[in-house]
Amino acid sequence: MSQIHDRFQTTIAGSLPKPAWLAEPNKLWPAWRASGAELERAKRDATLLWLKEQEDAGIDIVTEGEQSRQHFVHGFLEFVDGIDFSRKVKMGIRNNRYDAMVPVVGGPLRLKGRVHEVEARLARGHTGRKLKITLPGPMTIVDTIADEFYRDKVKLALAFAELLNQEARALEKDGVDVIQFDEPAFNVYLEDVKRWGIDALHRAIEGLKCTTCVHICYGYGIQANIDWKRTLGGEWRQYAEIFPALAKSRIKQVSLECIHSKVPIELLKLLKGKDVLVGVIDVATDRIESAEEVSDVIEKALQYVPAKHLFPCTNCGMAPMDREVALKKLRALAAGAALARKKLGNRGQSPISAKSRRKKTRR
Ligand code: ZN
Repeated sequence: MSQIHDRFQTTIAGSLPKPAWLAEPNKLWPAWRASGAELERAKRDATLLWLKEQEDAGIDIVTEGEQSRQHFVHGFLEFVDGIDFSRKVKMGIRNNRYDAMVPVVGGPLRLKGRVHEVEARLARGHTGRKLKITLPGPMTIVDTIADEFYRDKVKLALAFAELLNQEARALEKDGVDVIQFDEPAFNVYLEDVKRWGIDALHRAIEGLKCTTCVHICYGYGIQANIDWKRTLGGEWRQYAEIFPALAKSRIKQVSLECIHSKVPIELLKLLKGKDVLVGVIDVATDRIESAEEVSDVIEKALQYVPAKHLFPCTNCGMAPMDREVALKKLRALAAGAALARKKLGNRGQSPISAKSRRKKTRR
């Protein structure tokens, strides 16, 4: 097992590809290969496999790879009462970037029970590393579901935030160190983020003592997103609209897209005081980044983010990727961070000794 680092701690946005014996490969919405007890065993095996792969690759803050959920939003919705899954309607999502068949909210929302207890406890029991679990953010959920009951986006978002908070509090008790909310919709509805998106997130993190994070990206490397990005022009300035509000929020970390993206790097300075999970691995290409490329992005980000706040990460989830490619990208992430540590020496180190810092970061 590789050592845990005290600087440039690496982590991933969240998801990893499912092995072909668990679900159809290379798909965002894969069909499971088994059912019942056999499926539960397969999910468990895949979770353990990816924990080990992340540790061996040198990832410092690991995830369960989202091996137990079919999709990052619907994996949560399946556990919510008040949603009619038998009736799906076609809806343009992410401001009509693409159509999806979505279920309908038809009554008051309530959790059926725990959502990610099994995989969180399993992962906690099998790794000494910091553990992150991801949940969909309230705004992104609202943008991925039809509503015939609340008839008000903000009320619906706050109702979901309440449920997310219940699950997040329970995950904290399970020993999870970081809870991340995925909010790709934040990059689409810039005014709504400031009007109610961050309020809904605050409701979702209420009372949590663990580290909280929000992931805001330009989406998985699927064709609809690649086409959309072509329409955004030479410079992507969406983050400029929302980062100042996020800097004032109570969320501790922000995960964002950086490598090969047209986001002007100086926008990172708008997140003063936050931990910044800088995307140094591109999920829209199978080409494996070299350690030098990764280290270069870290160095550029370091102009705007102090070293103690900089966490090298992937641009987005790796769920739809080829498994071998994802594994190589994990290694590239760790190798790039290692190179940056070596190249930058003690730059940006806080005055406490490396020894005491190591003690603090080990559990
Ligand atoms: Zn993402």
